[in-house]
Amino acid sequence: MTREPHNLNFLLPLKTHLLLLCLLCFYVAGCSRTDPVRARAALQTTCQQYMDDNTQEYQCWLPTAPEPSHELIVSLEQATRNVQNATRRAVGSSRLADEIATAFTTFFPTLFVNGKAIAFACEESDQTRFKQSREICFIPKSEFARMNNPALYYRYDWRTVMMAGIGWPEPFFTAVTMHELGHALRHNNGVNMKMFSPEWISEEVDMHELETSVIDHLTAGRYTQKIRRICSQYPKAQSAIELMTMISASDLIELDEITDTSKSGRTVRGTACAQYVLTLGFQFVVQHKGTSQDKMSFYQWFIRK
Ligand SMILES: [Zn+2]
Repeated sequence: MTREPHNLNFLLPLKTHLLLLCLLCFYVAGCSRTDPVRARAALQTTCQQYMDDNTQEYQCWLPTAPEPSHELIVSLEQATRNVQNATRRAVGSSRLADEIATAFTTFFPTLFVNGKAIAFACEESDQTRFKQSREICFIPKSEFARMNNPALYYRYDWRTVMMAGIGWPEPFFTAVTMHELGHALRHNNGVNMKMFSPEWISEEVDMHELETSVIDHLTAGRYTQKIRRICSQYPKAQSAIELMTMISASDLIELDEITDTSKSGRTVRGTACAQYVLTLGFQFVVQHKGTSQDKMSFYQWFIRK
């Protein structure tokens, strides 16, 4: 039996349709997969616009004098009370917050001068307490200005929380303090890990979520409410990364009203911006029934240079 050539002709338009359909599928798939590098550039622009909204610098609550003086001792005592009040305020935010507050009911304050932590303890009993106790090293303004470090961080080699005496607003001071004390607690409990390892990233996610729970505790849940509202403004976002290409500087500025950060300088607002972005990303993951691994992937994307 011979086939007439025209019997096959109908396949040509069908093939063309299939080809077009494939191309369309690839295009749609490509569109939904946001380019991570471009997304990061877009987010950087948004964060820069947010930072440019306020160019004030930080105020300082620790004097610059490195020599022991009455004023300095009084300031260190005040700094100690600031931290104690912060841990007290955070109680009830989460189980982890309660654990940290209990562990840091007392601690040993030191002052960072010329690359060293100086203890202003003369009594021998204080010296013993110092060796056994958890330490917070306060950084005065003069030293902080010379450093290229965050205003609050955990220094693993010293097992010490380093805290610049700058004017953090409440509730941000409480939240970030608890974050760093959380690292100190885990490290003291024997958790040791390499930077950027999965364990390290997982701990960072935990501490940023702790910050969120502390801010919510202190603002009667208004922080997460606002975060949810921002997410709902961008229903077309297909991923947490894509959401970052859609949010605006004014979304972040609105969050400042809740965290009382509007009048803070760039140092504080840099930290605030990171927390807002991470909270938004994690919220997206939760709303889309993602996993802890998805939060870790988002964090990894966020910190990549
Ligand atoms: Zn951290």
